[in-house]
Amino acid sequence: MKNKEIISVGVIGAGGFIGQDHLKRLSTVIEGVNIEMLYDLNTEKCTELANKYHARVAASAEALIADPQVDAVLITAWDGVHADLTLECIAARRPVFCEKPLATTIEDCKKIVEAEKEAGETLVQVGFMRRFDADYRKMKEILKSGELGAPIMAHCISRTPRIAPGFTDPMQITNIVIHEIDLFRWMLDEELVRGQVHFSRSTGFAESGLHDPQLVLMWSESGVLIDVESSANSYYGYEIGCEIVCEKGTLRLPVPAAPIVRSRLQCAVPVMDDWSERFPDAYKNELQHWIDYLRGRTNQPGPGTQDGYAACVTADALIRSQQTGNTESIVL
Ligand code: NAP
Repeated sequence: MKNKEIISVGVIGAGGFIGQDHLKRLSTVIEGVNIEMLYDLNTEKCTELANKYHARVAASAEALIADPQVDAVLITAWDGVHADLTLECIAARRPVFCEKPLATTIEDCKKIVEAEKEAGETLVQVGFMRRFDADYRKMKEILKSGELGAPIMAHCISRTPRIAPGFTDPMQITNIVIHEIDLFRWMLDEELVRGQVHFSRSTGFAESGLHDPQLVLMWSESGVLIDVESSANSYYGYEIGCEIVCEKGTLRLPVPAAPIVRSRLQCAVPVMDDWSERFPDAYKNELQHWIDYLRGRTNQPGPGTQDGYAACVTADALIRSQQTGNTESIVL
């Protein structure tokens, strides 16, 4: 497929929130791509989207992966089916972009790492999009330059205004904190080795039984301590924060630029409502990178199976800590 100008993509889970978001991007701002085929459990929604994007509807996820006109597969279905679908793509030698998480168990992640190794080529990109955000990239560049000395600590917030019913304590890690897990492995260029989760009293907006917010602590190999406040029911809006404290200064993720509105007796900056508004360029860049890699325009693959595996092992240790209250080791 390398050097093919246009990559024909099939999307599994096309009708969901991020599936529709990626479809919009693929049809407007991503170069070198054709939306060939769609599949979703919701047939009505899938047909409506296929009509909108002039694509074909697949009879099943398996049929989409096997279709000879589909060059590559984008998986945006729910977490529980990522592993099986990714393994099926690898077996068919079909390049695949899998939304995070790569799989929900360490065992499944290992199977995927092994299957890709056996295939002998890089076939999988995982949807860790923050690596493609220009501000995080700049922060990594400054860290690497050494001008601020060694990193020591990081303080992060990850707040979402509301969450769908059925959200659980482990999902606080596998759905929300997973981004900081990958981000710091990438940003610090080292593994995370220990983790611990602390609970506070919960907000009245949390479903019964859910601890929300949670405070997650992670230590890197060299001893950098990262704290993340993860909140699934912040009520007021979506906000991501990150400040890295180094020996000679700090690095802070900027708040996205927005007009400061003065109205009667008020001077305010709007707060966003969800992730799709906060990181549009990062989502665009990650998909363009995937397509460009498949077109042979870059030799540098995006985040892959080993990153998905390491994130899963780290998440597992943090979920253990939710149950034990202890600091848990992260053993890759
Ligand atoms: P969602 O709105 O629930 O969408 C999932 C869609 O996939 C639904 O249309 C669902 O159909 C469909 N589906 C479920 N199982 C399927 C299967 N076996 N085959 C085909 N379609 C299937 O969820 P979402 O918020 O879009 O999230 C989807 C995935 O993206 C999740 O894994 C999530 O973790 C990830 N995500 C990543 C980011 C990021 O920042 N990278 C952001 C958001 C979401 P039904 O509704 O009929 O079940």
